[in-house]
Amino acid sequence: MADLARKVASTPHSAIREMAQLARGIPDAIRLETGDPDFVTPVHIIEAAAKAARDGFTKYTPSAGLPSLRERIAEKVRDRNGIDVPPEQVIVTTGGGGGLFTTFLVLLDPGDEVLVPDPGWPGYPAQVHFLGGVTVRYPLDRGRGFEPDLEALEACIGPRAKVLVVNSPSNPTGAVYGPETLGALLEIARRRDLWVVSDECYDELVFDGEHTSMAALGDRDRVLTVFTFSKSYAMTGWRVGYVVGPREFAEALAKAQEPVVANCSAVSQKAAEAALLGPQDVVREMREAYRRRRDDATALLDAAGVGYVRPRGAFYLMADVSASGEPSTEFARRLLLEQHVSVVPGIAFGRHGEGSVRVSLSVAPDVLHAGVERLAAAVSRSAAAV
Ligand code: PLP
Repeated sequence: MADLARKVASTPHSAIREMAQLARGIPDAIRLETGDPDFVTPVHIIEAAAKAARDGFTKYTPSAGLPSLRERIAEKVRDRNGIDVPPEQVIVTTGGGGGLFTTFLVLLDPGDEVLVPDPGWPGYPAQVHFLGGVTVRYPLDRGRGFEPDLEALEACIGPRAKVLVVNSPSNPTGAVYGPETLGALLEIARRRDLWVVSDECYDELVFDGEHTSMAALGDRDRVLTVFTFSKSYAMTGWRVGYVVGPREFAEALAKAQEPVVANCSAVSQKAAEAALLGPQDVVREMREAYRRRRDDATALLDAAGVGYVRPRGAFYLMADVSASGEPSTEFARRLLLEQHVSVVPGIAFGRHGEGSVRVSLSVAPDVLHAGVERLAAAVSRSAAAV
């Protein structure tokens, strides 16, 4: 066989998928490594999609998305995110992941640097690598609830820096940044003339306080905001996301996705439209369920004396397993093999994730309870043995 491209071969497999693969070999494993909501897509959304398919939404759509969906999204980002833009500045993408990739495609020339949070979603460095960009990690400060270390961030910004990635609510930390932190990040971007890619894929999943959209604070010509239907509406399999940005950028994004995917699936776009038009209590109910799980999991960790950073949003929790004396990868493997609980080693999210493991709250409450109990017991046991 002829060679495959080096950039794909040299990209490490996501440790999340690796853990999932290992866990599949253990039939009774408690699966806390997943980032996929355990809820099914609300039924009115499924029915609207079935109707749309029958009504002929089985063809290509404009590459920027169906005009009717772009209009609904423009209303949503105005009302819920405080970003007042016309539908022309909204581009429908294949999930948040597709939105991020095409955004980087539009922004990056080979060698351009992208500042990525550490710990942060592993998809960012992989995408940047595929596109010939260079990832520079900036540290989040565990001691301050995984807020960005602004001084350290400034020190990371070199002459090739072009994009600053901000992710709030955060995967994996659950941190939610307030206007002060977001304003400070925006000020740095302004001063250093950087694009900001604001990944707000968990915008509706905030337990404490409120979500602030970066673009609502100003600099609309600099901030490109990525959203998705995947998490808020339990629609990961439908692959619908959207990006909001200045007009010229939006036009480039639609142009860039045309030769690759043409457009997001027509049926899925109609499903997304139904999600925005239909009752929103489904979002509230799922958010409340995640909140109760967060409270239960943290109570179990408190009782066992295991440290963690209290997540204020998204549906993940970083539990401190450093007392075990093991690197997070070894701890996670041992937890899976001995206790049949699968979590993601913190190192999968960057150097600053080391010492922690990520627990997903997107599983049934009794399953989560049992898994966190075993995790806490495993930390305490190995701490006693160290
Ligand atoms: N951004 C973050 C921070 C994520 O956690 C994820 C998925 O887990 C994505 C983007 C991609 O989401 P989507 O399913 O919409 O592609």
